[in-house]
Amino acid sequence: MSGHTRLSEPGNDDLRALIRTIPNHPQPGILFRDVTTLFGDAHGFATTIERLARTIAAEKVSFVAGIEARGFVLGGALAVHLGVGFVPIRKQGKLPHIVIGRDYELEYGTDRIEMHADAITDGARVVVVDDLIATGGTALAAIELLEEAGAVVTSATFVINLPNLGGRDRIEARGTRTHALVSFEGH
Ligand code: AMP
Repeated sequence: MSGHTRLSEPGNDDLRALIRTIPNHPQPGILFRDVTTLFGDAHGFATTIERLARTIAAEKVSFVAGIEARGFVLGGALAVHLGVGFVPIRKQGKLPHIVIGRDYELEYGTDRIEMHADAITDGARVVVVDDLIATGGTALAAIELLEEAGAVVTSATFVINLPNLGGRDRIEARGTRTHALVSFEGH
């Protein structure tokens, strides 16, 4: 497909080495890519934020929207780094004011994410951030929700892409650019 690199950027092997893999969590057969080890490394965490910022340098965003929960850690730091506001995309029932929400499919059943209806100014340029993209269902719901709130979503950016699950292709196919620092084969 188009423009972006499909496999890990060799330049990000230092960050890749700080991500821990836990087999069979939370279910048999899943290789859980654990970013707590990356976040716990001061230099690794700071470098991650710098490189995520570089992926979106040309996009001139005025908000970072982070997906609960690991997207909050990345998104908060990225927003401060860029000097822009942070918008939380949360699990159902957590936000205190008037919300808009969106259901999305999981492997078994559905889930719902919400944001404050007044969180962004109409027409604002927003980047979505999360730790990992797998099927893309979560990120797609976040993008659609932000668009419903009036945002122009310039891209979605991730530390990790799981290319075998097709999420990046799915999001790019609907016309939204994506970025990822590293990729892991498999599920
Ligand atoms: P998806 O909606 O399928 O793209 O799944 C993305 C969300 O699920 C992200 O918030 C990830 O943190 C989490 N996730 C999915 N697969 C994994 C995995 N193998 N390791 C760690 N987190 C995962």
